Amino acid sequence: MSELNYQKLREYMVNIQIRARGIYDSKVLAAMLKVPRHEFVPQDMRPYAYEDRPLPIGEGQTISQPYMVALMTQCLELEGPESVLEIGAGSGYQAAILAEIAANVRTIERLPSLLQKAREVLARLGYTNYEARVGDGTLGWEEKAPFNGIMVTAGAPDVPPSLLEQLADKGRLVIPIGPERYQTLYKIVKKGKKIRREFVTYCSFVPLIGKEGWGNP
Ligand code: SAM
Repeated sequence: MSELNYQKLREYMVNIQIRARGIYDSKVLAAMLKVPRHEFVPQDMRPYAYEDRPLPIGEGQTISQPYMVALMTQCLELEGPESVLEIGAGSGYQAAILAEIAANVRTIERLPSLLQKAREVLARLGYTNYEARVGDGTLGWEEKAPFNGIMVTAGAPDVPPSLLEQLADKGRLVIPIGPERYQTLYKIVKKGKKIRREFVTYCSFVPLIGKEGWGNP
């Protein structure tokens, strides 16, 4: 398929799946329109890259549904100068969306083979304002903290205390919490010593596996 056709599929995706469902943040809409999602999925999944669903990326993991990527990004209320941490790099697609908007993006992935592929695509597409590493993201990235926004893209039993600690004052954390298959997406806002938890939607993510998640396999 030509780049022009992919561009048309992206426009359709943004209008029908994202804007029509209430995503209003112009920075998020522009990023979703720009980032070539098909580059982040395996070859045999490319024809489905702009469909309204998650897709397999190998190792039993998934690239999230486009609407969920947009919704979670909007929850972070990014303006541009922020430092953001993503847990669960997966294909690298969400990191690219964040890197379009925020000044600095850090992303952690526990599976080295996925991170290697994600790095290759992000480098090929010319992203330079991100750092990625293999590790247990439930513990965050202490050396780079605090973060204005933290996004967890795997389902957790509860908010990992390390992530809450590494969230900056007035920072936003978005995370799916609940049993292993079905969770509730929450936006958590830190103001001084106060932590406010807002319901966002219901969702289904692969499990967050780690010390402050579902434990180690
Ligand atoms: N954000 C990804 C994207 O744009 O493709 C999709 C992420 S996928 C739904 C969840 C990812 O979280 C998987 O790749 C999984 O290996 C990873 N993961 C699970 N537990 C983790 C942990 N403790 N630290 C880092 N990554 C983790």
